[in-house]
Amino acid sequence: MNPELKELIDSSENIVFFGGAGVSTESGIPDFRSVDGLYSQKYKYPPETIISHSFFMRNPSEFFDFYKNRMIFEHAKPNNAHKRLAQLEQEGRLKAVITQNIDGLHQAAGSRNVLELHGSVHRNYCMKCGRFYGLEAVLNGGSVPMCQCGGTIKPDVVLYEESLDAHILDKSVEYIENADMLIVGGTSLVVYPAAGLINYYKGKKLVLINKSSTSYDRRANLVISDYIGKVFE
Ligand code: ZN
Repeated sequence: MNPELKELIDSSENIVFFGGAGVSTESGIPDFRSVDGLYSQKYKYPPETIISHSFFMRNPSEFFDFYKNRMIFEHAKPNNAHKRLAQLEQEGRLKAVITQNIDGLHQAAGSRNVLELHGSVHRNYCMKCGRFYGLEAVLNGGSVPMCQCGGTIKPDVVLYEESLDAHILDKSVEYIENADMLIVGGTSLVVYPAAGLINYYKGKKLVLINKSSTSYDRRANLVISDYIGKVFE
């Protein structure tokens, strides 16, 4: 591990990690916003349109086609970043993982206190009776997964046009405010609410780990421009 990063971690006991899509790319999960040739052949709309609340309500089968192809990777495994963060939590140094990802890989690696700002593909619920379902209900549910009661099953993920869970947001702010070290990884910090949350950090150990530069690099105490899984090796 980067010696400066190691030194900062070793001298901290209230670390909070904030992560984005880049944390999971080394597990083979691409950012769903990344548009490729295959994508434009298959879908008529940009991802932000398909993954919106109104599109889900109007065209659930098209939504689920995209969602299952582009946002669910049931065979993905945690990488070194997920594993090291889980280990730091077990050692008592890390207090929370705040993630914009919906893949559940932090929990799969053993992390317990995970704040999922955008929800999780592993939780799904009936819009009519509220019954909860796992991922299988969506994977095996045909073009539009339905509850026994006849209602449509909706993933518990935050779609465009939907607001974030205020309780999770509040808890995230609280953890960041109280952190002695904040590690931000795999996010370019442009997607709401990432940039705003980081402003709550008041300490002197802000570490940014991202493949490309961000507008926050100058404010950070340490910037590491690399793949995050590699950094945590
Ligand atoms: Zn139902």
